Amino acid sequence: MTSTHGPLLYEGKAKRIYASSNEAEVLVEYKNDATAFNAQKRAQLEDKGRLNCQISACLFELLEREGIPTHYCGLKSEHWMVVQRVKVIPIEVVLRNVATGSLCRQTPISQGTALDPALLDLYYKDDDLGDPLLTESRLFLLDLVSPESRQEIETLARRVNAVLTPFFFGLNLQLVDFKLELGRNAVGELLVADEISPDTCRLWDMNSLDEKERILDKDRFRQDLGGVIEAYGEVCKRVQGATPKPRNYG
Ligand code: 5GP
Repeated sequence: MTSTHGPLLYEGKAKRIYASSNEAEVLVEYKNDATAFNAQKRAQLEDKGRLNCQISACLFELLEREGIPTHYCGLKSEHWMVVQRVKVIPIEVVLRNVATGSLCRQTPISQGTALDPALLDLYYKDDDLGDPLLTESRLFLLDLVSPESRQEIETLARRVNAVLTPFFFGLNLQLVDFKLELGRNAVGELLVADEISPDTCRLWDMNSLDEKERILDKDRFRQDLGGVIEAYGEVCKRVQGATPKPRNYG
């Protein structure tokens, strides 16, 4: 599936975005590149692109069935997705159901503390600045979003959490935290964009009590735990076992 796409529009750390013959859409190629710590750590992981593409497709379709708008149109092949063209909002929205990661490095909150309601953190999406945490006043100083838009973003992100948390729980996976990116399409509709995969979510296997063994997400790569692809494969198997086969598109 390389003959029918238009020019490369953008290359990110995990995906390439190509123009499509339909102006309202773009093609997303999920890559096998793994990066962490703002791309200071890099590797090629065979099959990662396909796994993240398949997991994301199933999850976008799940959200769609629950009435949550996403940029997803359908799959073009095993690691190519067609999505609506959106203007990405330069904010990363992180939802945390359990305290770990940067929250525990930056605050005295203990690892594993349940966060109910989920903690919602906004970060400024800028690799050169290291995606800094946004305060209320910086958000408005930078004029990134209107107060109404900010409210809309937070409501949508919490709805995503309210769908994904019980869904993963049913697969014996604890959705510890995740990052969302949002964008607006040509008519201004707010959509969940980017991907939802073990690259962007922390997922702990509830079948395992071992603190390292239970990790089924990018932390395996970040922490050099090995078995990254096996973990992503396990998530993919469970997600695919609980959702319809993603639709082909285009
Ligand atoms: P933390 O703030 O603890 O590093 O990350 C919280 C959650 O958001 C984790 O699930 C992590 O994977 C995700 N996350 C935060 N920032 C990024 C990012 O820049 N890239 C990716 N892939 N995930 C991120």
